[in-house]
Amino acid sequence: MISVEAFGAEADKWFAANVPSDYDFLMPLTFMEVGTDEQMDFLRDWQKRVYEAGYLGAHWPVEYGGGGLTQAHQDAATRAMRKHQAPIIVNAIGTGWAGPLILDTGTEEQKRNYLPGILSGDDIWCQGFSEPDHGSDLGNAQLKAVRDGDEYVLNGSKIWTTQGNYARYMILLARTNPDAPNKYAGLSFFLAPMDVPGVSTTKIRKLTGEYGFVQTFFEDARIPADTLMGAEGEGWKVAMRTLEYERGARGGQAGGYNISQTDPLEIVGLAKRAIRNGRPALEDPVMRDKLIETIIDAQAMMANRERAKIAPLVSERPHALPLMSKLQFTEYARETGQFALELEGAQAGYYVGEERSREGGYWQRSYLNAFSATIGGGTSQIQRNIIGEHALGLPKTR
Ligand SMILES: Cc1cc2nc3c(=O)[nH]c(=O)nc-3n(C[C@H](O)[C@H](O)[C@H](O)COP(=O)(O)OP(=O)(O)OC[C@H]3O[C@@H](n4cnc5c(N)ncnc54)[C@H](O)[C@@H]3O)c2cc1C
Repeated sequence: MISVEAFGAEADKWFAANVPSDYDFLMPLTFMEVGTDEQMDFLRDWQKRVYEAGYLGAHWPVEYGGGGLTQAHQDAATRAMRKHQAPIIVNAIGTGWAGPLILDTGTEEQKRNYLPGILSGDDIWCQGFSEPDHGSDLGNAQLKAVRDGDEYVLNGSKIWTTQGNYARYMILLARTNPDAPNKYAGLSFFLAPMDVPGVSTTKIRKLTGEYGFVQTFFEDARIPADTLMGAEGEGWKVAMRTLEYERGARGGQAGGYNISQTDPLEIVGLAKRAIRNGRPALEDPVMRDKLIETIIDAQAMMANRERAKIAPLVSERPHALPLMSKLQFTEYARETGQFALELEGAQAGYYVGEERSREGGYWQRSYLNAFSATIGGGTSQIQRNIIGEHALGLPKTR
């Protein structure tokens, strides 16, 4: 087997030579911002190239389309992607949560059927958990799935379905037994095809004016019964496991990244360049004070990331740091975006595409987009509840 060092060096060379710069549209910074066919086609093609070069799913088994190497090999490839600021891996729900779920708990047939298309990006996946009246309160999901022979018949609606208009499959949480003794026992989990009659989507426009998610409607949509994942009535358990992948509390993802992270200290550069009241923002004592606080937060986050790799430091509460990471990173991104606009002062009002915008409106767009990740995958309030209850052992809120 090729050594991790040699593999990493090859990946470094490949990304240096292949990261594209020949596009003239707004590049999505996260998988939740893919709103046009042009963006989707470009990113899908990019994912396929990365996969075919061997830098996605490098550690997944060869028989399911992977490279048969180790996690350390894939990590080295992901580091090279970051270093060369490659575009995001677009099929995030496939590579990040459906894929590892199927790899860990799927049947042999499910693994062979679904995993290769996830890696190549040929099959885009979406997630049907949230409903118009049930988001944080996921256990109350009401979309109905009624067994009829070899099929289930679906009726109801899911909302905020990221990439739902492009997806071939949906990981779907549906109610198969409304009379179950408790709400969780009535739920089942499906690997549902989206290209069946009775499934339709409507785009939802976001704060940024861009698109990225849809509302999905199911009207007597029939899906094969063998798309059930786990047993009927065990959907809650499967959904909770899926959320562990999504929140980074469980590993096994195909690799790459689906949210581009700017260097947390990039804000220092802006503080030097931005002008407030005719002087560099960095000379304003209030701004300096805030900048120091931001740097301390960034350093703490980076230290925590390193700490998570040292087993004896995390053995007592293994899930605590990964769960904290989602909360910390997403809130940090939002707060830094807000601070960036303060640094820009009166010019902060100009957005992408406006002649007088600073730095192409980069910080404005990134600030507005930063709210997405503080809500998707569980809001910050819900993350705090989970950390309190499951990592710190505090009493349950309800
Ligand atoms: C960009 C984006 C992409 C998304 N993509 C998907 C997707 O692909 N698939 C999918 O299924 N969903 C997706 N979502 C939906 C997301 O998971 C939900 O929005 C989220 O779980 C919150 O649910 P809600 O919107 O119904 O808000 P609500 O649950 O109604 O919450 C409203 C407010 O109340 C607070 N709150 C609720 N319950 C509690 C509590 N117990 N304790 C403390 N505070 C509480 C929340 O924190 C929030 O501030 C996406 C959301 C966004 C923003």
